[in-house]
Amino acid sequence: MVPAFPCSMPHEGAEPLSFPITAPPGPDLWEHLAACRDQDPTLFFGPNRFEPKRERMAREAAAKEVCSGCNVRSQCLDYAQWADEPFGVWGGLSEPERRELELGAGAA
Ligand code: SF4
Repeated sequence: MVPAFPCSMPHEGAEPLSFPITAPPGPDLWEHLAACRDQDPTLFFGPNRFEPKRERMAREAAAKEVCSGCNVRSQCLDYAQWADEPFGVWGGLSEPERRELELGAGAA
């Protein structure tokens, strides 16, 4: 299910995004502009098996490289924080990095 929010601040009650994003392009949904639309989701979420640290770091670096060229990075990060996404690289940050960001914001 794709939520119906076009802006960076998700609305209460919006459905969580499914990933990879497969909905047809639309004019108002930020996820349709995602640079990761045609990427292998395992690049962002990892394989379905134990992943050694060195491999994970290389994979996450490659995912973040995709994110660095994404025009909807801030919307993606806002979504991931709103949805408390527990896995994957969203908005150019891994889950521990998003948690750190939230903790930092809470301390300010
Ligand atoms: S910031 Fe990264 S994960 Fe988010 S939509 Fe863009 S490419 Fe995909």
